[in-house]
Amino acid sequence: MAEETVFAKIVSGEIPVTLLAETERVIAFPDAFPQAPVHILVIPKTSAYQNVTELAASDPGLLAEMVEVANRVASEHADGDFRLVFNNGENAGQTVFHVHAHVLAGGLKEQTLGG
Ligand code: 5GP
Repeated sequence: MAEETVFAKIVSGEIPVTLLAETERVIAFPDAFPQAPVHILVIPKTSAYQNVTELAASDPGLLAEMVEVANRVASEHADGDFRLVFNNGENAGQTVFHVHAHVLAGGLKEQTLGG
């Protein structure tokens, strides 16, 4: 079995976070190293999927639930507009292999992709 990730420890409560949203299958919490005025992570509670490609292929409904939660936290913590980033693979910058969406929001209009 793959080694437990930091996000599995967050789901189990071993590492405490401020929960910003929770559904039966998804949680959202602030990123520890924010890259935008609002930077929230949305993750499924299951550790079954390492990245968004695996998730989309196996459980598109769960992916849709993550997008719904992203939309909700962007409305509650910013103006409702948001950028949704999934790093897919080590060479794309993925460091935690438990699928997660970065919700980036708050004054990003002038910021280009990657800028
Ligand atoms: P990745 O680089 O895999 O796409 O994103 C992983 C993200 O998880 C990074 O933005 C990093 O700041 C965040 N992160 C890593 N460890 C922790 C943690 O213990 N708590 C929280 N809240 N975020 C974390």
